[in-house]
Amino acid sequence: MTAIKDIRTFTADDLAAELVKLGEPKFRGKQVYEWLWNKSARSFDEMSSLPKNLRGKLAETFSLTPVSEHIVQKSKDGTVKLGMRLADNRLIEGVMIPDEDRNTACVSSQVGCSLACTFCATGFLKRERNLEVGEIYDQVVLLNKHALEHSGKPLTNIVYMGMGEPLLNYTNVMNSIRIINSPEGLNMAQKRITVSTSGVSKAIKRLADEGMKFNLALSLHAATNEKRDKIMDINHSNKLEDVIAALNYFYEKTGNKVTFEYILFDKFNDTLEDAEHLIALYHQVPAFINIIEYNSVEGVSDLKKAKSEKRDEFVNYLRNRNVNVKVRRSRGKDIDAACGQLANKN
Ligand code: SAH
Ligand code: SF4
Repeated sequence: MTAIKDIRTFTADDLAAELVKLGEPKFRGKQVYEWLWNKSARSFDEMSSLPKNLRGKLAETFSLTPVSEHIVQKSKDGTVKLGMRLADNRLIEGVMIPDEDRNTACVSSQVGCSLACTFCATGFLKRERNLEVGEIYDQVVLLNKHALEHSGKPLTNIVYMGMGEPLLNYTNVMNSIRIINSPEGLNMAQKRITVSTSGVSKAIKRLADEGMKFNLALSLHAATNEKRDKIMDINHSNKLEDVIAALNYFYEKTGNKVTFEYILFDKFNDTLEDAEHLIALYHQVPAFINIIEYNSVEGVSDLKKAKSEKRDEFVNYLRNRNVNVKVRRSRGKDIDAACGQLANKN
């Protein structure tokens, strides 16, 4: 017997063909597709515009595996962290961050992460599996409900900065962006979506050729190979020069500047000499720089966030050299909802 297939792995055309195979008229494909994505049905039974016998046939032929809310935590600053349960009982986390006129969803792409960056709580969990397209989509749908509840407004932005390395779940991440972007899905513009990567050069080149328009962020955190090797294992196989070459190719193809994410760690990468190295990289590829406050993760890392005087000195040094730099403050810290803190304490 062949394994029963997740119905949300089909494109609209393939689904229509599947329904024809089941002896149904072609238009049913479109109807089912609409239930799956636009109406984000959680079961075949919910698809009330379909004849009952068809709902039964679908349930026998395919699986539908929605993600469900497990634990909701709300921060004083309005940030909501969701613990979510997958159909196989594994847990993931996602965050909704309200900020002035924005509501940003931060979604996971894998259960755990294989890359084990020394500063990251997720990296401490071993990678269990990739998330399916539908599982990434469901996180957005659930976080959108919280955005509406919080501010009466839907999500405005999505960042792939939750658990996992998105470019190591390449196909599902790309397909999730396509469906989030599509009118049959959530109709969200690609320019409101950001994928963050620790720097998988080959995958960056590949996505440059996809003809997509979302934003790309590189978790840089150290501007020389020597330092980056110490905190990010991936740098051993993806050297900075290869990553920069891939990013230049990405810029050539998309016209999109990339964002360098740079966490300032106390006495590790916060001197003016480090700033010089960062400026040198900045001149090698069209980029913006985000300086990120470190959220310490107890029991995982000895790294500490840089002192605020050091941070100001570092940032001013960059500004005086005409670097396009922003300082990102951390959100939802009281509930461990900030970047790099997602690790399923519950
Ligand atoms: N794996 C991808 C995306 C998930 S991590 C990546 O590494 O880019 C999302 C962002 O959070 C990355 O920039 C990551 O470096 C950062 N991050 C990880 N741990 C952090 C921490 N403890 N404090 C602040 N940022 C952290
Ligand atoms: Fe994985 Fe990103 Fe955390 Fe590194 S920072 S361990 S790549 S999730």
